Amino acid sequence: MTFPDVAINLVKPKDPVEVRIVSTEIATAAPSPNFIRHITFDVSGTPLEGNIRAGQSVGILAPGTDANGKPHALRLYSVASPTGGEHGDGKIYSTTVKRVIDEHWETQELFTGVASNHFCSLKAGSTVRMTGPSGKRFLLPEHPEQYNYVFFATGTGVAPFRGMLLDLEALGMPTDTVLVFGCAYRSDFLYADLFGRIELGHPNFRYLKAVSREALRGDGSKPYVQTLIEDEAALLQPILRRENTLIYVCGLKGMEDGIYRMLDKHGIGGYFERGERGIKPTDRMLVETY
Ligand code: NAP
Repeated sequence: MTFPDVAINLVKPKDPVEVRIVSTEIATAAPSPNFIRHITFDVSGTPLEGNIRAGQSVGILAPGTDANGKPHALRLYSVASPTGGEHGDGKIYSTTVKRVIDEHWETQELFTGVASNHFCSLKAGSTVRMTGPSGKRFLLPEHPEQYNYVFFATGTGVAPFRGMLLDLEALGMPTDTVLVFGCAYRSDFLYADLFGRIELGHPNFRYLKAVSREALRGDGSKPYVQTLIEDEAALLQPILRRENTLIYVCGLKGMEDGIYRMLDKHGIGGYFERGERGIKPTDRMLVETY
């Protein structure tokens, strides 16, 4: 399996471009305890124009300095757009941003993420300092029509899959493809209208959801993306057992281990190997987790 050649680091942190925010809107399905926005931005006239592929990320530089007086570190956000951007002309791209709002466990001081809150507070028409693109492996392969896909996403980890699914839809959704999306509450479905529309038009695409904090599973455990490997076994396992199926994983780090365990439990091979340094995904499993 090979990946398409992509441009990387065309815009470096030392010399970022100013990019205009085109729109910013709430991305959750209903009022939610999470504040997540779908933000579109215009890269026309910059080296990023026409040079971002679905699955890649851009960097955001928040203004100001950190506690040590140094400029804030770059934060990466996955692009949520298909390869040609929102309109196919390589100018307008989007991303999915969750405000990080938390409390320090020990001090109980309020903690707010610098870049996510800066980005989410920007209004349409204002600008943000951007770098990128980055990432050259978390992409659809060359000849995407030769593979089936199971995409596992938690929360904003769905961003790259919105782009990849729109790329696959543009090819007529050639093979069996499943998006398994996990979130805490039904209010937190991201892009559900879009995925529902793709599912209606393409019976070989299925959109599954694991809602962790509403109904529990029969054994009392939470529904997580990986538990659907057994709760939706009739749909997922035959696809996962095919030798030309690829798994993509994006979101919380913990889901990675959960997926390995569930694949192992059901005797589904080909996606990871056990080495001296622990578990390593094979070429058929692409992982981006934080
Ligand atoms: P979140 O709301 O905290 O969690 C989403 C869902 O995942 C919840 O239902 C949560 O359940 C569940 N979950 C928690 N632990 C899990 C586990 N071990 N296995 C499976 N599911 C689990 O998610 P979020 O705040 O949006 O976070 C998304 C993460 O994705 C962030 O860390 C972000 O940095 C990352 N991300 C990465 C990329 C990338 O790598 N390119 C792109 C976008 C986002 P409970 O909370 O009920 O346990």
